[in-house]
Amino acid sequence: MWHCAAVASLTFLGAAQTVTGSRHLLTTASGKRVLIDAGLFQGRKELRLRNWAPWTSGQLDAVVLTHAHIDHTGFLPRLCAQGLVRRALCTDATRDLAWLLLPDSGHLQEEEARYANRHGYSKHRPALPLYTAAQAETAARRLEGFRYDVPVEVVDGVQVTFHQAGHILGSAFLDVRADGKRILFSGDLGRYGTTLLADPDNPVQADAMLLECTYGDRTHPPEPPDHELETAILDAMKRGGPLLIPAFAIGRTQEILFLWRRLEHEGRIPRVPLFVDSPMATDATPLYLKHPEDQSAGVRSLLARNVRPLHPARLQFVRGAAESAKLLEREGFFAVIAASGMVTGGRILAHLEAHLPDPATTVLLVGYQAEETRGRRLLEGARELKLRGTVVSVRAKIVQMTGFSAHADWMEEERWLARAPSPPDRVFLVHGEPSAIEAQRARLAAKGWRVEAPQPGQEVQL
Ligand SMILES: [Zn+2]
Repeated sequence: MWHCAAVASLTFLGAAQTVTGSRHLLTTASGKRVLIDAGLFQGRKELRLRNWAPWTSGQLDAVVLTHAHIDHTGFLPRLCAQGLVRRALCTDATRDLAWLLLPDSGHLQEEEARYANRHGYSKHRPALPLYTAAQAETAARRLEGFRYDVPVEVVDGVQVTFHQAGHILGSAFLDVRADGKRILFSGDLGRYGTTLLADPDNPVQADAMLLECTYGDRTHPPEPPDHELETAILDAMKRGGPLLIPAFAIGRTQEILFLWRRLEHEGRIPRVPLFVDSPMATDATPLYLKHPEDQSAGVRSLLARNVRPLHPARLQFVRGAAESAKLLEREGFFAVIAASGMVTGGRILAHLEAHLPDPATTVLLVGYQAEETRGRRLLEGARELKLRGTVVSVRAKIVQMTGFSAHADWMEEERWLARAPSPPDRVFLVHGEPSAIEAQRARLAAKGWRVEAPQPGQEVQL
């Protein structure tokens, strides 16, 4: 039997030398096109503009998503709206989360377009959204959900198996087989021994690996986050005012709820009123209990004993806007978790507007705060903050927790790589800032691995 001389190729359409816009195109010898992740570019304007570039990579036989974060999925509605996608596939839990996250992303796109029209700063009149909430919902409905560890024929000649990545609910790394090659796409890798999620599975044997490098030049602090949270809660109670926690609705909110319940159970904090003021977090929290395949051993053992792992004693979910407004009038000590995590929008804005001027208030920042966000300004000691059109003075105590992260740092990644049956023949470093990629490249090259750091748009033959 003759073998065709042509080989599969990979094109790095996003998350090359940067952390957002994950899009990796696999083209087989027979011309089938499979896009691994369809992420939005986020952050700097120069990056965000790339979302508007015309799509020149043709019709896609399949789009396969590693996980539900918008920098891996948020471009799918745009592609679907242009009729470019035949199939879209992901794990069951990723589909559940995408049903929440994609329409929300559509709302934000519409909001941005409205804002541009009001302030007349767009070249286009009227400014249009990248996609609408309705288009995003249509795209989300097209997602086919699959279990982990079961090979799926995504298109003739291309087989994909989802493996647990431990990064967020539903996250996977992919074992892709095409043209006799095996390619491992790491997606975003999570950490070992986290509170909520299962550990990452061991890497499989691969001819080529795409490896994320978010923390390629950094490591996480060794202390577990529960001490930090305990101290923050007890200090906030002493101050007497509310404890306001800006947090991403999916992932970070549930991690806090898990730790909060455990601190209560261990008698380290008293049972205090706690509100999750977020419709999305309210919808997302039950999903963590619905997917045993993604749960940590800790969560599973609590559930087996009929303990609700994400429900501190005095927790209330706030969905309606009227209820949320009523919460603003509450006095004394209570805690509120609300999006967004970097204070760029969401219900946390109203809480901050009401309570930042009061020195009895505590604001607990629980995640990374990007440059030019209100979260970063608070962290840097701003004396006033502009919120919803008004300037508010900041007299509240601002505290930051550093113990949370959904990403493996480079040492954890080394631990994961060491579990591969043998090193991959080639490694492509993606999803990192240039300094992180360079640090990871040097480290792997020193072991004698063949490592490459692709540029945006670069194509390689496998
Ligand atoms: Zn992610």
